[in-house]
Amino acid sequence: MVIVMKGNAPEAEISKIEGILKQYDLKLDISRGTECIVIGLVGDTSQISKNHFEANPYVENVIKIADPYKKSNRKFHPQDTIIDVGGREIGGKKFTIIAGPCSVETSEQILETANAVKSSGALFLRGGAFKPRTSPYAFQGLELHGLELLREAGTATDLPIVTEIMSSDFVGEYEEKVDIIQVGARNMQNFSLLKELGKTQKPILLKRGLANTVEELLMSAEYILAGGNPNVILCERGIRTFETSTRNTLDISAIPIIKRLSHLPVIVDPSHASGQAWLVPSLSKAAISAGADGLIIEVHNNPPEAKCDGAQSLNPEQFAELMVTLKKYTALEGREL
Ligand code: PEP
Ligand code: MN
Repeated sequence: MVIVMKGNAPEAEISKIEGILKQYDLKLDISRGTECIVIGLVGDTSQISKNHFEANPYVENVIKIADPYKKSNRKFHPQDTIIDVGGREIGGKKFTIIAGPCSVETSEQILETANAVKSSGALFLRGGAFKPRTSPYAFQGLELHGLELLREAGTATDLPIVTEIMSSDFVGEYEEKVDIIQVGARNMQNFSLLKELGKTQKPILLKRGLANTVEELLMSAEYILAGGNPNVILCERGIRTFETSTRNTLDISAIPIIKRLSHLPVIVDPSHASGQAWLVPSLSKAAISAGADGLIIEVHNNPPEAKCDGAQSLNPEQFAELMVTLKKYTALEGREL
């Protein structure tokens, strides 16, 4: 960290800053110029807030040099993290497909979809029980009953289940019944929820917020990791831009960028990124080429009848066809599907 003070800063003001910094175990390197005085801080500055100094009228600028995320940072953990979910690995050589409907609707719907995605090669079953809908009048999910139906379908097909949590009230319930707990885009910065999930050892699929930077995504992962849970999977699901021809804009560059900055696995959601089923194959292929570790794809046994996100859901035949194509693309990247 570097603190730049104005050239006319009185000695008393410089001493004041030095006084504040004394409480930390740091080496200070002060160089006095005519235009400005530069105080270089050498050592661990992760606990020091920039705001503390920025309020001083003689401080021109405070520059953080080290990355604010530590546990998710590849610098301190060069090898890729591989998450073990009951014997199934996410990350490393493996390329993971999570598939299933946006929401669990009926026992028949989830079971039929689960059987279809399993026979095409999906390794995990997704399905929303608690749905974060923009409108309070839209279908909110079957909630705990939906979780039961998803659990039953997962057990019947031997597919581990992935479902979104919306409130820390249900962490205990999810710990018991869910294999991967999803934190949706809208809750990426629900810090009290992230802290609760940090106390568990459950794999967490953390989706990037609608308008959040890569660094903010990594800082949210940091909440879970710092709490003691190392099992975090990141998810790029498209971000808000000025473009209206897709539901969101899939940030393809975020994939290699996150892989460079962090050791955590990255999954891509081409369904919420595009909002349209016909775009899902293109975005899936792009994600593989960009270095993703897997995909989470919405599949419904009958998309026109879906209670939620039917337009972006593949039917079982489309999913089966896509899986054949993805096998070739993953092989090209040296990944196992
Ligand atoms: C979902 O996966 O069902 C979902 C709501 O996604 P997101 O949080 O990315 O919008
Ligand atoms: Mn959805």
